[in-house]
Amino acid sequence: MTTKTETNMFCYQCSQASRGTGCTTKGVCGKDETLSRLQDNLMIIVQGMSAYLYHARELGYTDTEIDAFMEKAFYATFTNVNFDPQNFVEMALEGGETVIKTMRLLKRALLETYGEPQPTEVQTGTVKGRGIVVTGHGLKVLEELLKQTEGKGINIYTHSEMLPAHGYPGLKKYKHLVGNLGSSWIDQRELFAKTPVAIVARSNCVVPPTAAYADRIFTAGPTRLADVTHIDDYDFSQVIERVETLPELEDAPSETILTTGFSASTVASLKGKIKELVQAGRIKHFFVVGGCDSPTDKLRYYRDFVERLPKDTVVLTVGCGKFRFNDIELGDIDGIPRLIDLGQCNDAIEAIDIAAALAEAFDVEINDLPLTLVLSWMEQKAISIFWSLLALGIKGIYLGPTVPAWVNDDILKVLVDNYDIRMIGDPDSDIDTILRRNTGDEEMMAG
Ligand code: SF4
Ligand code: SF4
Repeated sequence: MTTKTETNMFCYQCSQASRGTGCTTKGVCGKDETLSRLQDNLMIIVQGMSAYLYHARELGYTDTEIDAFMEKAFYATFTNVNFDPQNFVEMALEGGETVIKTMRLLKRALLETYGEPQPTEVQTGTVKGRGIVVTGHGLKVLEELLKQTEGKGINIYTHSEMLPAHGYPGLKKYKHLVGNLGSSWIDQRELFAKTPVAIVARSNCVVPPTAAYADRIFTAGPTRLADVTHIDDYDFSQVIERVETLPELEDAPSETILTTGFSASTVASLKGKIKELVQAGRIKHFFVVGGCDSPTDKLRYYRDFVERLPKDTVVLTVGCGKFRFNDIELGDIDGIPRLIDLGQCNDAIEAIDIAAALAEAFDVEINDLPLTLVLSWMEQKAISIFWSLLALGIKGIYLGPTVPAWVNDDILKVLVDNYDIRMIGDPDSDIDTILRRNTGDEEMMAG
């Protein structure tokens, strides 16, 4: 396990800030480094939660208990209110539980608005005609754009975390939702510069544009870019006017077909068959390989990891980190796909429900399933999900690509001692360690 050597903090939230610039070793108020970092950790969880809550509210779904937790968390980090580090760990776990509630709220909003996702093959590359690409999260923007462009001869493409939109009946019914362009958020500058499309960026992760496409990108909802037109009211007429000035895209479909749109109920309907395959030794282990992509070579780990898994394993995935490996043809085990894309990062709630259903089917605890979570984090939502998994008592999670910068040795020790958190290392040896540990579970599953 990596250890951290940084021992400082940073806080400048009150007038006592050291030298008028900030407390960096110990707070003048008495707050120490670990307490300061635990406060930051709680705020990061609340930031992640806020994104999911925003998307749910956009579809008309709210929950006053979630609002109340957010108030409590913000207030706890106020100057001279709470100096108890143990209480901040407890609140992080309560935050994790509230993230589960928020993801569930958003999932209900999506299901009741757009229907139950269905496994769907998504074409990549371009088709002949003018195109608008939607990147980010938040399906309502995509829906409104689809309505306003219907019958106008404009094709709509998803990008990055919008890919799972193709699985929802309420969105896939639009014939001009033609496919997905590019991969995760990190290819925006290159992809958008070379592809003459109009772009709607909705929520994270948006990247400040280059001059090559700054005049054809638009933002919506919480997303803003300096000097870029913002659409506040779902009126996309300016985007439509802009795309009509752009050249048509070539008919250049890619050979890569991506499959998305699996849901917890699709997988639960296969529970009996999955149980049989596990008991027959045909499926030896399940992995959730999910989370964020980020522009570092360390993310290569996740492709190598998935590529090297034995053929008797199944991978569930959520988030945009999947673009590191979702083009690999993993095949199936007696009709059960070896790569199951459950959707956006908030669909981690689906992975949680599947794990609970499997645990019930085998009459064991989740930690006793032949199941390992291998997560990649980039930003606050991934951290909020991480704490939701800890709140469920899930142990032995592999985390990468780095130890979060605000986690010092004290916090890391809590995570390792209580939750057996491991940092990703070498894919081969990690797979070996996981599958060797699994041998006992397998025997138990076989009954
Ligand atoms: S709240 Fe405490 S640590 Fe923060 S600036 Fe004020 S005195 Fe420093
Ligand atoms: S999964 Fe994380 S990194 Fe990827 S687009 Fe969503 S918020 Fe950004």
